[in-house]
Amino acid sequence: MAELQSVGVRFTPLPDQEFGGGCTARGALSLNDIGTATTNLGPMTCPLARNFAAWVRHAVRPAAQQVWGEDVVRVETMGTYSCRNIYGGRSGRLSQHAHANAIDVSAFVLEDGRRITVLEGWNGDGRSREFLRLIRTSACRRFPTVLSPDYNAAHANHFHFDMSGNGFCR
Ligand SMILES: [Zn+2]
Repeated sequence: MAELQSVGVRFTPLPDQEFGGGCTARGALSLNDIGTATTNLGPMTCPLARNFAAWVRHAVRPAAQQVWGEDVVRVETMGTYSCRNIYGGRSGRLSQHAHANAIDVSAFVLEDGRRITVLEGWNGDGRSREFLRLIRTSACRRFPTVLSPDYNAAHANHFHFDMSGNGFCR
């Protein structure tokens, strides 16, 4: 939290929560302002919040400048906390989303209003492809687990980042 404060991120610490079924949000916070508008954020563990805010500032925005010469004005996510199993299955291990330890990122809006989605951009025009691969590469240095459209069809429309594991990047 001190690291977040030191870079001007505004957030609200949340009390530890147990939601039943093993689903928890411990050591979590809610991000209020990371310097770029971001949609659908829920509770996030502190390390996830720190790495996500840093990724947007130090990877996403510079990559958009490099590729289009424009800033990113909105990052769209599909959320953080969700009490569910991996791949939403009925059985199996709980997803890191069930611990507020994962985020799914789906799209980026540029200054001129253009919207780059993971779904269409991953295999889209050259600049979108370059941008999305630049920011995935950076994510792989920041999050212990990164799943992109290269991983499986369930991730065709978003990047999944979580703070478990030790270096899975696909
Ligand atoms: Zn996910």
